[in-house]
Amino acid sequence: MDQSSPPGLQGLADRKATRGPNLVTPNQPIVFDEEACTGCNLCIEACPIDVLVPQASPGAVPLVLYPDECWYCGCCEMRCPEYDAGAIRINFPLMQRARWKRRATGEHFRLGMKNPPPPNTRPPV
Ligand code: SF4
Ligand code: SF4
Repeated sequence: MDQSSPPGLQGLADRKATRGPNLVTPNQPIVFDEEACTGCNLCIEACPIDVLVPQASPGAVPLVLYPDECWYCGCCEMRCPEYDAGAIRINFPLMQRARWKRRATGEHFRLGMKNPPPPNTRPPV
């Protein structure tokens, strides 16, 4: 800023140097494990809205081309033959993960967290 600028604007000019636009970053709905995935592309076929696309090289992990279009429906996960090996995981948004509280201790749990308590086996009243 040159010397003729009003003094109150100097701080604003300094901040501009480190400020960027408030970019919207894409979410990451599907996470692949490159070690476990065989690149069979069955998950791509299962996706009803074509979020995933195959890579040019055979056997490569699929690309998540339209992450913001994902419905979190689970079709890709269910179709994966390597699911048990961890080839594909849906990364559910926090607000979509079931949460519950252990009344005795006040602990909060979310679905998918490590070492959650066993399911409640008490029959409904
Ligand atoms: S969760 Fe559903 S919409 Fe999202 S990538 Fe998998 S199959 Fe497609
Ligand atoms: S995630 Fe599963 S279904 Fe998709 S390409 Fe890899 S192994 Fe095949």
